[in-house]
Amino acid sequence: MATKIIYFTVHGRPEQAELPVDCPAQDVKDLFRSAAEAGPHDILKLYSPKGNIINISPSLEPNSPHSCYKLEVVAADCNSAELAGALGFDLSSMEKRLQGLEKKILIEAGETPAVVYEMKKQVDSFRKKLESVEHLSWLGLFKDLSEGPHKPSPFYHKRTLHRTREECEHVREKFLQMSSLEVSEEVRQYLKTPTFDNWQWEDAEIMVLLQVMYTDLDFTATFNIEPEVLQQFLFEIYRRYNNIPFHNFKHCFCVTQMMYGLIWLTDLRSKMDSIDLLIMLTSAVCHDLDHAGYNNAYQINARTELALRYNDISPLENHHCAVAFEILEKTESNIFRNLSMDQYKRIREGIIKCILATDMTRHSDILNKFKSILPTFDFTNKDHRDVLMMILIKVSDISNEARPMEVAEPWLDCLLQEFYNQSDVEKLEGLPVTPFMDRDKVTKPSSQTGFIRFVLLPLFIELANLFPCLEQHIIDPVRKALDYYTEMEKALEREKQNWAQSESAAKSKGGDSQTNAGPEASKPDAQSTKVDIF
Ligand SMILES: [Zn+2]
Repeated sequence: MATKIIYFTVHGRPEQAELPVDCPAQDVKDLFRSAAEAGPHDILKLYSPKGNIINISPSLEPNSPHSCYKLEVVAADCNSAELAGALGFDLSSMEKRLQGLEKKILIEAGETPAVVYEMKKQVDSFRKKLESVEHLSWLGLFKDLSEGPHKPSPFYHKRTLHRTREECEHVREKFLQMSSLEVSEEVRQYLKTPTFDNWQWEDAEIMVLLQVMYTDLDFTATFNIEPEVLQQFLFEIYRRYNNIPFHNFKHCFCVTQMMYGLIWLTDLRSKMDSIDLLIMLTSAVCHDLDHAGYNNAYQINARTELALRYNDISPLENHHCAVAFEILEKTESNIFRNLSMDQYKRIREGIIKCILATDMTRHSDILNKFKSILPTFDFTNKDHRDVLMMILIKVSDISNEARPMEVAEPWLDCLLQEFYNQSDVEKLEGLPVTPFMDRDKVTKPSSQTGFIRFVLLPLFIELANLFPCLEQHIIDPVRKALDYYTEMEKALEREKQNWAQSESAAKSKGGDSQTNAGPEASKPDAQSTKVDIF
């Protein structure tokens, strides 16, 4: 069987793993988990020699001892290691020794002797016995049975909109078990940067990271937010994001994480008070709650319940906001419950303003207002601050292209999938089909070049006028993305022309043109400059 060797260090000691090339994803994860002697709820990350996080998956690139990966437990439950120590045994190292022994014998003797099979059987039955003892299962010595299916790929989309109760409860349990984890300083710093890779984190881990943001901005201390209330709030937020390709919990996280990054990069803590910052972070967390994957144009054209309720005025954004305050109405999830009436009033007003600002039909109005105050911008002026807060949430909301390509590109696939779903439904229901969502008209690059040129860059550039330090963090990567998609668009265009030429050549020869498959780009004519895509 073909295998590959992965060299890595863990807790400073060198290790190597030999994996069959077709090793199942869960087995790869389990192997690294046991190498790190980590518990089932500890969070593991693998770093490349350059310090980038890389996915622990079957497609892991083989390396050499000189280009070792670094395996780290970035958030650990201290108790589990203590308890394992206290119990005085370590099944995983026993298993590892047995595996090594088995390999050695196999190489030397050419077959596995019966005695090794017998030993393996004993270890298996011992493991089963332990796994059946629920309170021991978090020791991390073996596979967590409650782990459920593998993490879905970014492109994975379930038909059902809402998560099942079981699924929610499972994530909630995992989150609560993890919520006392000590997140490492390295991850806390990484969390403050726009290069953060959301795809490396599961939902329960993401909830831990959101918790870190509230703690590290001192909100929990300043506003006396009890840990259980923050956890319940975050769980309700998770629960009320739907299982759809783009406007889901991971999008909520990305927008919040970008907002968090911008707060640190621009040193906003020295310029605005904690309540404004709390408004911004919480607005980002709540800004797409209960999004069903169909935009405002659809809501209005299909005369949905939301459009009726909000009289066609930003139906989605009004709904996201209303759901947010539904969550905050419950005492157990009201993170603002220890604030004064005046403070709560100010926060409510701020959150409503920020979330409603994410309706892209208001894009030009808000941007023009910001441009007009920029020359005299004054942080002590409340109106100025209000516009800046709207700009910051807008930037965060559409900031995927400011992220590294390997983070941003899967998001574009998710977005197009959601758009295509909508246009398919529009066709089925006989509604006007939104052109930039039509799978027959849009390609990946065509959807991006106009959007970056006419929407993203003009917005980001204005923000960087106020904070020049942002240039390198959000504008440079967006320009790179524009070049990338422009090149891709040109390549598709060339492919289209080649196809057209071979088509006409085939026709003149009397060949069967049906056998020539058209290139992907033979369809486009995309109009992608519309601004109301979010
Ligand atoms: Zn959004």
